[in-house]
Amino acid sequence: MSPWNPHSWQRFPAMQQPDYADPSELEAVLARLRRMPPLVVPEEVDRLRGLLAEAAAGRRFLLQGGDCAEQFKDCTPEAIAGKLRVLLQMSVALTHGGRKPVVRVGRIAGQFAKPRSKPTETVRGRELPSYRGDLINSLEADAAARRPDPGRMLEAYFHASATLNHLRALTAGGFADLHHPERWELPGGTGQVPEYRRTLDQVRESLDFLEALGGVQRDVLERIDFYTSHEALLLPYEEALTRWVGEASAYYNLGAHTLWVGERTRQLDGAHLEYLRGLRNPIGVKVGPSATPGHLVALLDHLDPDREPGRITLISRFGATKIQAALPPLLEAVQATRRPVLWSCDPMHGNGAESAGGLKTRDFGAILSELRQAFELHRAHGSHLGGVHIELTGEAVTECTGGSEGLSEADLAKAYETGCDPRLNGTQSLEMAFLIAEMMRA
Ligand code: PEP
Ligand code: MN
Repeated sequence: MSPWNPHSWQRFPAMQQPDYADPSELEAVLARLRRMPPLVVPEEVDRLRGLLAEAAAGRRFLLQGGDCAEQFKDCTPEAIAGKLRVLLQMSVALTHGGRKPVVRVGRIAGQFAKPRSKPTETVRGRELPSYRGDLINSLEADAAARRPDPGRMLEAYFHASATLNHLRALTAGGFADLHHPERWELPGGTGQVPEYRRTLDQVRESLDFLEALGGVQRDVLERIDFYTSHEALLLPYEEALTRWVGEASAYYNLGAHTLWVGERTRQLDGAHLEYLRGLRNPIGVKVGPSATPGHLVALLDHLDPDREPGRITLISRFGATKIQAALPPLLEAVQATRRPVLWSCDPMHGNGAESAGGLKTRDFGAILSELRQAFELHRAHGSHLGGVHIELTGEAVTECTGGSEGLSEADLAKAYETGCDPRLNGTQSLEMAFLIAEMMRA
């Protein structure tokens, strides 16, 4: 294999990259990005790798979630706190019901780029260049606004840093303290998920008891760990946030704690795997219907030659009707390598549907079914599912059908806000967490 450096990916074919019209403008942006302070520090990245290694060993559970694509306009205190809140609420349900500490990783503070199946899309009857995420072009239905603009990389960096700054302030400042019930309320009141109220009461009672015994320090409950992730898609941007860390004698991407490679860009001879193989960060790999056992094993050799615990999270995303046939051969192939990988399940991307009204949606029942099958298949093969990867938001949107609110296709238009894929809303997310906790215990 030829030597790696942060730009060695440029010698390989790179899928899903925009064509920037002006190379000098692109270079000026990248030069500025390279001088910017990193968003995260290597110690945090190393800590997360350790936690993921424990999840791979069955001692923790990974909850990774957030928007399909963040939009710059949603960089508001309400939206950020809303996403943090729903992930914390889910992690309480999972820790309490599943009896395992949860590793929380947001698809947040940098999830601004989207792979697209086609270069153009039809928007209200007009054929326009596809929206590739705010990192690359604008969602606005206008041909000029859809042109890739390198200046958006700087905007993305600043939006990611504002988001992360707010997350850090909230998590360090007691936002997660269970003693503040008002911070733990569901957006529409707790009526929709009665189990949540009971869990919260039980958790608080246990905490009071431990505190009475002098066993818990308050600051431990007030501060929580929260990590960030995004898809490593736009390689010039990722390269600019890649830094040499002398103490570790290694390169880290310090734009997020962990990155994943998508289903459309994980070619063995492609630029994305070349870029990712040289980083110290933990790496996620989406594994969908196009993955063969041979490909997966070769990919693991490529990305993780040292078989390092915590290095690789395999995120299966087949769809409820395909997982039964598709997952077992891959599980067996990975097991035969005796590699310490963490298996997670993304029950969203294989379960896309179109509503009669033409909206992209996903059904709660299909999402649940894929998760249930994933847990069962892992068990049946002597493996275990150690995490989930979910597209969600704290807001009361109507993008996925089903759940206890009984959202139907006719309801979707009421609050359909995603710029890309449909997300579970706050109530659906929390309900899902309780159902996952049951599956963890089964
Ligand atoms: C995503 O996670 O938003 C995504 C595009 O997933 P995948 O690469 O699995 O299709
Ligand atoms: Mn998506």
